[in-house]
Amino acid sequence: MANPILVFCEQRDGHLKKAGLEALGQACRLSKAGGRDVVALVVGSSVSPLTQEPASHGASRIVIAEDPALSSYSSELFTTIVADLAAGLKPVAILMGATAMGKDLATKVAARLKSAVIQDCVALEMEADGSLIATRPIYGGKLRAVVKPTNPLMQVVTLRPNIFSLLESKPASDVPIERLAVSFDGTRPMARIRDARATADDKKELTEASIIVSGGRGLKGPDNFILLEELAAALGAAVGASRAVVDAGWRPHRDQIGLTGKTVSPQLYIACGISGAIQHQAGMSSARTIVAINNNPNAPIFKLATYGIVGDLFEIVPLLTEEVKNLRA
Ligand code: FAD
Repeated sequence: MANPILVFCEQRDGHLKKAGLEALGQACRLSKAGGRDVVALVVGSSVSPLTQEPASHGASRIVIAEDPALSSYSSELFTTIVADLAAGLKPVAILMGATAMGKDLATKVAARLKSAVIQDCVALEMEADGSLIATRPIYGGKLRAVVKPTNPLMQVVTLRPNIFSLLESKPASDVPIERLAVSFDGTRPMARIRDARATADDKKELTEASIIVSGGRGLKGPDNFILLEELAAALGAAVGASRAVVDAGWRPHRDQIGLTGKTVSPQLYIACGISGAIQHQAGMSSARTIVAINNNPNAPIFKLATYGIVGDLFEIVPLLTEEVKNLRA
């Protein structure tokens, strides 16, 4: 039997993250050529109810690691779980979403297994012997590096969210589920999360949003972001921002997109009054469709944009909002 592919399916508060299911979808596509099993791993304090989703998204086997000590993320404990499972399973690859947790866990698992780690992939192929060929943006998205680990065993890879599509969900009742005997074998967490508090608003998470309306200094002031909030509400989108407006205190840092902010890959990114500096592009250049609204026809954002509107955002954005509302009515 060919070595399987292991997928870490991240969960938070009893819900599987889409990024993990996307990794599962890609693992299933890669597994077809080599006839490999795809093993989904779910880790947490009460994750037994979460087995249905990986099963219906293509996993051929599900492993759950359940323990009260795993209620919140701990690098050390989660690394022990994934690395111990991998040491027995000998997967050709270990895939996970390039989320904050995934990026942290991947490096530590790879270090523990003495294997290669490739972060933030936007394309991933597998050769017959299991060797991966991964594409990842480098230099803030200016270039794409094609990377091939030298050893086709236990290659650890994180996949950029929203790039890889989910497999169509199909009911699956006969997928074996295995409960891992959790043992930390002296592993002590170096830090413990004592309290996690949700922010007061129920804002959409930028890294998971499929539509983002983003604003820059062209908005002229914090109050004018209401225009973007209204367009975002009509589209079911999240609102992002450039660093210039975050530095000015108009928006919180969690809204910042770019080199020193978040990396997003939505289906649609609408940049309003954003010049498109290279550092901003670093966080959004992998968006599928980019619409730029800017009154300067020479703004760099137009070089990247799929569609460009040269004009005053204060006129265009309300018209766009109205049109979307009419279409949805
Ligand atoms: P500006 O560059 O001032 O652009 C405003 C735009 O609005 C202009 O193009 C203007 O033509 C347009 N405009 C003005 N009025 C209107 C109107 N009425 N209608 C339509 N358009 C209008 N930036 C990020 O965004 N994210 C990062 O993570 C980031 N990290 C950085 C890290 C480093 C180390 C450095 C050095 C810089 C970083 N920057 C980052 C900053 C980046 O270089 C730019 O300064 C910043 O992106 C500019 O933000 P902006 O486009 O909102 O503002």
